[in-house]
Amino acid sequence: NSSKLPNVKTTIFTTVGNLARKHKALDLSQGFPNFEADPNLISLVNNAMMEGHNQYAPMQGYFGLREVISEKIQTLHGHQYHPENELTITVGATQAIYTAISAFVHVGDEVIVLKPAYDCYEPAILVNGGKPVFLQLDAPDYSIDWEAFKAKITKKTKMLIINTPHNPSGKILSQNDMLCLQEILKDTNILVLSDEVYEHIVFDGQQHQSVSRFPDLVQRSFVCASFGKTFHVTGWKMGYCAAPKALMEEFRKVHQFAVFCVDHPVQRAFAEYLKTPEHYLGLNDFYQRKRDLFLKGLADSKFKFIPSQGTYFQLLDYTQITQESDEDFAKKLILEHKLASIPISSFNVNDRDDKVLRFCFAKKEETLERAVEILSSL
Ligand code: PMP
Ligand code: GLN
Repeated sequence: NSSKLPNVKTTIFTTVGNLARKHKALDLSQGFPNFEADPNLISLVNNAMMEGHNQYAPMQGYFGLREVISEKIQTLHGHQYHPENELTITVGATQAIYTAISAFVHVGDEVIVLKPAYDCYEPAILVNGGKPVFLQLDAPDYSIDWEAFKAKITKKTKMLIINTPHNPSGKILSQNDMLCLQEILKDTNILVLSDEVYEHIVFDGQQHQSVSRFPDLVQRSFVCASFGKTFHVTGWKMGYCAAPKALMEEFRKVHQFAVFCVDHPVQRAFAEYLKTPEHYLGLNDFYQRKRDLFLKGLADSKFKFIPSQGTYFQLLDYTQITQESDEDFAKKLILEHKLASIPISSFNVNDRDDKVLRFCFAKKEETLERAVEILSSL
């Protein structure tokens, strides 16, 4: 009865979500929109069901969907993943990440993870017998010191996990960052797991630097993506993994016995919906307006911040309000002020005492305005 994950607790997104519901708090904690998806997308799922696509999809995913994803990546980033053997549709990005780690990380292998880190990476490494090696990025800027990164590489380094745009900091990796990474990895066998679930949420005219733009990175990388984030349907849990053929072959060995295949009618719907680039290219502006509304409202508050460069999250530093720990302050905000957020310590930074909370601004204007009112009163 010995636990494989003795130190892993219930994820913060469940515990804070439950607390927020119990206390009827305005919920800016877990990352999901509180507005509806495009009804046309929902109709497409309905049509697919009525047309009888209600049995198992192919193990790798519906081919028509893999084809449009391949074209989309080619158009945006100039690299062609072959739909036949380089793309697999997954149960959200979470399953893509878990599967890539399970398929490649052996007992004792080291995986470099940049902190703060989204919470699903570490347990996936640990349960497979791997060893997470953390590189702490510093508030408030969270930029990567590539020399410090280099120092973390050992003979046992199997994989590196990057996440751009970055949850929770909203930081995006620049072209220069990607070139540095490409150069450092050049003569190694290190794999890259690139979590790009916020690829279409990048602000201020900047460009998302996918690993698929960098030829030497492409050949060693898994790109993990999420339709939940891009199309306001996190509850549909659908995404994909893109990787070169040899890596994808191993990925599919695990995928086929973890889930075999994923929801068929939803795949049919996305195959149709993705044919119209306007369905995702407007997302940058859409979320930038929400970020700006939120931050303009907080300009005269006691919170300090650097505007998020991407994702739908904003970090706020509350040093000028209290010296309480982030967990205590997050809890107090829920209980006393009816506003839920995520303490930054939940992102693998529990050895620090940063006075920072994460707020999700994928919310209706009225929700953001109410949140601003509460935060400005502190
Ligand atoms: N990676 C990051 C950085 C995330 O924020 C999330 C949350 N959606 C995921 C992966 C998981 O995505 P999905 O819901 O598609 O599994
Ligand atoms: N990615 C979402 C976030 O960071 C949460 C998804 C989840 O609950 N696992 O808020």
